[in-house]
Amino acid sequence: MMDTYTVLKIIGEGSFGRALLVQKHNESQQYVMKEIHLSKNASGLQRSRREAILLAKMKHPNIVAFLDSFEADGHLYIVMEYCDGGDLTQRLLQQKERLFPEEMVLNLFVQICLGMKHIHDKRVLHRDIKSKNIFLTKNGVVKLGDFGSAHLLNSPMAFAHTYVGTPYYVSPEIWENKPYNNKSDIWALGCVLYELCTLRHPFQSNSWKNLILKICNGSYTPIPRQYSYELQYVIKQMFKRNPKDRPSVSTILARNCFSKLISKFL
Ligand code: ADP
Ligand code: MG
Repeated sequence: MMDTYTVLKIIGEGSFGRALLVQKHNESQQYVMKEIHLSKNASGLQRSRREAILLAKMKHPNIVAFLDSFEADGHLYIVMEYCDGGDLTQRLLQQKERLFPEEMVLNLFVQICLGMKHIHDKRVLHRDIKSKNIFLTKNGVVKLGDFGSAHLLNSPMAFAHTYVGTPYYVSPEIWENKPYNNKSDIWALGCVLYELCTLRHPFQSNSWKNLILKICNGSYTPIPRQYSYELQYVIKQMFKRNPKDRPSVSTILARNCFSKLISKFL
């Protein structure tokens, strides 16, 4: 299986292993191959395999396309579509201090929501929505990726392991040790929308204690006045402290400012 692919370069390295840019022999198409160290214990093994299984279930223009997965000498390999425009964090940095026009914010965010809707419709929670896990193509298509933390709804979950990463996107209920649910993904999605409008995280602090406090109080600087009331309002709804009060992704997409754009992407 391995000899089907030629490695062109390493494009990412993490605790899981590596992300490689690869090509099939005699083909020009490039792919990303995620190489994941398989752990020796059963629960770790199951966790790694889950990423491939859940990504393989997805089929949507706004989700990184799954191609293939296989295991070889202690590693799991997941082959997927390569997004040649980098990730959204890099894209936001490129802006320096120049804010996106509202039209651009709406265009990017609708695509993110359409990907999210596909995931939630399949009763899967992504659980690691952040600008670093949102990928772009040079043609302006936005795709959700990194299903390394994803989980099927209603199956038992281990919380402790999963939130060791960046804390900026973690919702109040998670800090309060309540279960992760689809509305926790919506909170994280709200953080991404806020970043699209301000190029900054909504909740930021130099100490964990203050960060958690800000998140749990829902205290953030309003988005710049150049943006519509509609955007302000959606953000406010997504940052409701009680998960039940946050809109579902379908409710967000049904709002006029978004629904009128959807036909462009179908
Ligand atoms: P993790 O966050 O668990 O390390 P990711 O799936 O996010 O794993 O991949 C790590 C990095 O590899 C990403 O931040 C990105 O730079 C790169 N990468 C992963 N998948 C793709 C892809 N489909 N297209 C382009 N780059 C990718
Ligand atoms: Mg990632």
